[in-house]
Amino acid sequence: VRATSDPPNRLVSGPARTGSIRAHNLALLLRTVAEAADPPSRAALSTATGLTRASVSSLVDTLVAGGLLVETGVPTRSGVGRPSTGLALDASGPAGLGLELNVDHASALIVDLSGAVRAQKTEYGAGSSGRLASLARDMASTAREQGLALAGAALAVPGLIDSGSGDVLIAPNLGTRSALGARGFADLVVGIGAATALPADRISVENEATLAARAERRAAGPAGPRSFLQISGEVGIGGGLVLDGQIYQGRHGWSGELGHVTVRPGGRPCGCGSDGCLEQYAGQQAILRTAGHADDRAATIAERARAGEPSMLTALAEAGEALGIALAGALNLLDLDAVVLGGLHAELAPWLAGPIESQLRRRLITARFALPAITPSALGGNASVLGAAWSVLDRVIDDPLAYLRDGRTD
Ligand SMILES: [Zn+2]
Repeated sequence: VRATSDPPNRLVSGPARTGSIRAHNLALLLRTVAEAADPPSRAALSTATGLTRASVSSLVDTLVAGGLLVETGVPTRSGVGRPSTGLALDASGPAGLGLELNVDHASALIVDLSGAVRAQKTEYGAGSSGRLASLARDMASTAREQGLALAGAALAVPGLIDSGSGDVLIAPNLGTRSALGARGFADLVVGIGAATALPADRISVENEATLAARAERRAAGPAGPRSFLQISGEVGIGGGLVLDGQIYQGRHGWSGELGHVTVRPGGRPCGCGSDGCLEQYAGQQAILRTAGHADDRAATIAERARAGEPSMLTALAEAGEALGIALAGALNLLDLDAVVLGGLHAELAPWLAGPIESQLRRRLITARFALPAITPSALGGNASVLGAAWSVLDRVIDDPLAYLRDGRTD
């Protein structure tokens, strides 16, 4: 399993060593095309990157030949002279396989380099970890049928991952249901490798909230918030942090454990060993328990709230207040543009946003000058698995030379 930390931004980090200049410039061109609003011409790429036109042409030829870029054939707005064609990421090039294992479901999807979702499958129910390898096998054969080469796979899990080894250290909410320990995850990765014919170093395991933040950053595009906290609410509450457009994972890959921020010292005991943690007030099970429906399903929370059930409205007000207290701490510390409510909390935003804002107005010292936007995620339950597929493609875009050298699997 490969290390999973977001690589430092190759485009702005220090001067390239002589041997890596070609790798650096290939990545620079590919990232520039990936982030352009319209397919840029070679001339526009030369202007945008500062590379000579001759260098751009030679590097672009390499990327086209390698199946990473494609000529769109649509003349760009370059005025008079020879009509130039635009360049776009090649939808028939490498594809990313995203996988997600959560408490009550397992998901898999394939995203091509242009960003299109080419196939998706989700299975619900406990014990779905056993189904993950078969989902991966289905997706790998679908990719083959569509003529796509998988560049890698990434698995999203609600747990703490060691960013060096890729080992899952703790996944408390999975552990109680599916008895998956660190050993179980290692076996799962072996199973995914066997199902997809991908070598172990192209399968990563990452925290689901961090991956959800990656998907959110991409979905929001260049006009979206530069710095935000993505909340990924299920049974537990994860947080993914994007600072100045970059995923921030922390020293070990453990940042964003919002669910274990104390909101009531001496309060309800938590599975982590502490007490009064946010997830004991605003997590899925906590909300259901507070409302007197401990054995109900997550889907019924919004249903009951819409029906105006008083105990559910009270539970959601308490959840929103607890979220607001935890978020005020994070926002006082980090000065972010926005908080994105994802997972379960996206659907519950109509009931949570009010109490969150009222806590922020009280506790966030800068609230009177600029209240950060509190917005529901538009990605629904797909954010983590989409982010997983994107993490594979981001690695190709960040280091196309490595992909061209040894990334072809067909
Ligand atoms: Zn806790």
